[in-house]
Amino acid sequence: MCSGRVDLSFIFRAFQNGMDGVFIGGCHLNECNYITHGNYHALNVVLLAKRVMQHIGINPDRLNIEFMSGAEANLFVEVVNRFVDKVKKLGPLGSTEGIDQNELRKRVSEVSKLIPYIKIVNQEKLASRLTDPTDYEKLFTQDEIDALFKEVVSYYIDPAKCQACSTCLKRCPVVAIEGGKLQVHVIDQDKCIKCGTCFEVCPPKFGAVTKIVGEPAPPPLPLEKRAIVRKAKTAS
Ligand code: SF4
Ligand code: SF4
Repeated sequence: MCSGRVDLSFIFRAFQNGMDGVFIGGCHLNECNYITHGNYHALNVVLLAKRVMQHIGINPDRLNIEFMSGAEANLFVEVVNRFVDKVKKLGPLGSTEGIDQNELRKRVSEVSKLIPYIKIVNQEKLASRLTDPTDYEKLFTQDEIDALFKEVVSYYIDPAKCQACSTCLKRCPVVAIEGGKLQVHVIDQDKCIKCGTCFEVCPPKFGAVTKIVGEPAPPPLPLEKRAIVRKAKTAS
């Protein structure tokens, strides 16, 4: 598989499945056969994943990326052996970190739910092509990743303002909005990837979608209370 296909979610899924280390091998930078240069993307994904790992208490040395060509079998063996030795020294996931395995899996699971959001927030940086290795550490700083988790956004539909026009429901990319004719629409927070589309497309005359920063959205309105009662027009 091309290293450019490696998604942030693959790395955290490996840790969630109990892997003690994750190794990614890609072609040499600037030697990609395709114009996509996916290996630069793989590098950025790894740099971002390491910051996220640090945020949740996983030693970032448990993740490694190396670049080599198909003709460099010796190099491949050498870097894999070196990484395996390093991971063996670190021990099972959670041991050197001093975190109970269940707690660690819980943290990985929480982070995994936020991966689409993390990618949206960092999409420009993920598209970078870093040519100077001294820039690697600077692409994602620990402070900005810690702040990202502190200021996670949620979107909430205000039942008092929603007029059931369904614009948001039609535009949501992951079918996270429930609603029907004359029914207040609600967001399923478990499905929502926090793309902000509903916030942008709700007509300004309704302004029903609210962006909430750093705290969870209120619980959705129960189904039996979602009917919209249109105000009767007053006689002139
Ligand atoms: S923020 Fe995006 S994913 Fe979430 S409900 Fe709105 S449109 Fe759907
Ligand atoms: S676009 Fe706004 S008014 Fe229309 S259904 Fe969605 S939240 Fe309600």
